[in-house]
Amino acid sequence: MLHIGCHLSSSNGYFAMGQTALSIGADTFQFFTRNPRGSKAKPLDPEDAAKLNDLAAAHRFSPLIAHAPYTINPCSATEKTREFALQTMEDDLLRLEATPNNLYNFHPGSHVGQGTETGIRLIADTLNTILKSEQTTTVLLETMAGKGSEIGGKFEELREILDRVALSGHTGVCLDTCHVFDGGYDIVNDLDGVLTEFDRVIGLSRIKAVHLNDSVFGLGSHKDRHARIGEGKIGTAAFARIVNHPVLRSLPFCLETPNELPGYKAEIELLRGLFQD
Ligand code: FE
Ligand code: FE
Ligand code: ZN
Repeated sequence: MLHIGCHLSSSNGYFAMGQTALSIGADTFQFFTRNPRGSKAKPLDPEDAAKLNDLAAAHRFSPLIAHAPYTINPCSATEKTREFALQTMEDDLLRLEATPNNLYNFHPGSHVGQGTETGIRLIADTLNTILKSEQTTTVLLETMAGKGSEIGGKFEELREILDRVALSGHTGVCLDTCHVFDGGYDIVNDLDGVLTEFDRVIGLSRIKAVHLNDSVFGLGSHKDRHARIGEGKIGTAAFARIVNHPVLRSLPFCLETPNELPGYKAEIELLRGLFQD
């Protein structure tokens, strides 16, 4: 069974996302914990969250992915900006205990000229402050395209962050197909080789989710422009290998392609069709 879903809007609440997921053939989904530009979160409705938990259990959803706002920067050069990232993530993790045992994905951040080493240290410091031994959420570093001073475009950078985190059992990696391809990892012609490299540097057991996106630009372009499945440089055949790969096939897959619901429904159908039971 392929576990697949897409990014959904949380504007109608948590239970509504579960219902929307079911209506498009999904058994997982991703949502922003708050306005993606990183402002205040709506107050959480515990009853709504409990209804989603019941729906997800009844329909055997695989773990859901909460996505941190993409504008926060835990390794900013400005202390105020770092503090804002830390408080946002800390608050998100508290709220996520209303929907326990799921995933919280974030972009490691941009070092904005301070250098990779400093960036890595600041990100690890943030994680060491916000992670709590009693939390049920696993926090995921997303593989990035390596745009500008973005950290996480190389597996080594993610490894260095993970190495510095004390509560490492609460951390993992979300593999974004567009981003790794953009970052120069050839998942089209050498998926096995890329995963072997991931295993050597980080360890395959640390991958907890996959973002399924085709890429508008080619290998190593560092541009981060998502395309619909089959409409970019990665292509349908490569996605068939990705969803069926023994290392990846049981993970939650999530689409972040430029689509509305009917388009997502079609992509989910396409990928379920490519999956070999
Ligand atoms: Fe992301
Ligand atoms: Fe992504
Ligand atoms: Zn992206």
